Amino acid sequence: MPAPTDPNCIFCKIIAGAIPCFKLWESPTVLSFLDIGPLSRGHALVIPKGHAVTLDQLTEEVAGDCGRAVRKVGAAVAKVLGAAGWNVLQNNGSIAGQVVPHVHFHIIPRKEGDGLGYRWNAGQIDKQDAAELVKAIVAEI
Ligand code: 5GP
Ligand code: ZN
Repeated sequence: MPAPTDPNCIFCKIIAGAIPCFKLWESPTVLSFLDIGPLSRGHALVIPKGHAVTLDQLTEEVAGDCGRAVRKVGAAVAKVLGAAGWNVLQNNGSIAGQVVPHVHFHIIPRKEGDGLGYRWNAGQIDKQDAAELVKAIVAEI
């Protein structure tokens, strides 16, 4: 069965070759290329070739393919850039910062003093709430 595609989706257009990209790697189900607006040098994206908006819409198999590609491309990017570390960022939904509605994983090489970061306003877990949450989520999984 051919992978679903959305004619209005910018990443589907890249997959179809209608828009060029700086390609890093591809498999039958996954494509990786450089981000056009890098947060740091070497910022790369990994996307499934089939159109899906959020991670939960992928099959387990394609999600696994993406995870393997993130590991493979991330390792190469980090090595070539001499990065001290790298972040994997994956936004689902506009409230979470997703701008392009086609699943993608950001691979962002990090260096000392690069100025990148995010607010991490940690709270404290409520044990009663945690127990209820675990019950509900485990039942859903
Ligand atoms: P989001 O905010 O949806 O997680 O990130 C979307 C990413 O896609 C952004 O980092 C943006 O720079 C990148 N992007 C958007 N359009 C294009 C494009 O046409 N080509 C490439 N290579 N990257 C794009
Ligand atoms: Zn798409």
